[in-house]
Amino acid sequence: MAEVQLEDVRKVYDNGHVAVHGATFDIADGELLVLVGPSGCGKSTLLRMIAGLEEISAGTLRIGGRVVNDVAPRDRDIAMVFQSYALYPHMTVAENLAFGLKLRGHPRAEIERRVREAAAMLGLESMLDKRPRELSGGQRQRVALGRALVREPAVFLLDEPLSNLDAKLRHSTRTEIARLHQRLGATMVYVTHDQVEAMTLGQRIVVLDGGRIQQIDTPMALYQRP
Ligand code: ADP
Ligand code: ADP
Repeated sequence: MAEVQLEDVRKVYDNGHVAVHGATFDIADGELLVLVGPSGCGKSTLLRMIAGLEEISAGTLRIGGRVVNDVAPRDRDIAMVFQSYALYPHMTVAENLAFGLKLRGHPRAEIERRVREAAAMLGLESMLDKRPRELSGGQRQRVALGRALVREPAVFLLDEPLSNLDAKLRHSTRTEIARLHQRLGATMVYVTHDQVEAMTLGQRIVVLDGGRIQQIDTPMALYQRP
């Protein structure tokens, strides 16, 4: 069964602008699906609807088989990584990693285990007591990834996670994300405006333009008939 299913999902903003016209597609369990297209094509809106950060105007969204149209973000089995990292500046790396789990009332021992595992997976062990301002951009983005990892969600949503990094860090962080996807077997929805990023990361790619789906295919198929 598909992990995420969109059935004629639409977004009409309050000002009447149709940002997404009836999107229908599935994201398979364990798949890394990329949403790609130029600025303003509706990819963030689509991702934010899956996250529950933006209301769905019409259509049906399912996560793990359950209709989640009216389910609050924290009650969906998802975690989101933002391009801006969105770390808490006054908290240490460990506290940043632990925060979402504390909020959800996980037991302390469980939180410590998950924080340790995520830190090990991302090479952040030696940074747990540092604050975000003491970290490089790449390290901050790894903490942002870690904050999603500790939640152990069914679905990871990544919104242009590389766009604030320089070219070298973009490459290594992209490799890191591909590695995490393989290792966790996680379902990931990844938004980017960068076609190279889409083609190198995506197992399947959804090409958007003007709020409409232009193509859905594997990188190989898209490459052969662009
Ligand atoms: P992308 O992520 O592909 O750059 P967005 O999903 O952010 O595109 O935006 C899609 C379209 O919806 C754009 O034309 C944008 O201007 C418009 N839009 C985004 N947010 C709002 C909003 N809150 N109200 C009205 N229009 C919006
Ligand atoms: P507090 O005093 O609010 O508990 P801490 O500095 O003890 O703040 O850390 C907050 C949370 O981060 C802890 O509950 C713990 O789960 C996690 N944590 C802190 N340091 C580590 C560490 N070295 N390894 C794993 N988890 C840690």
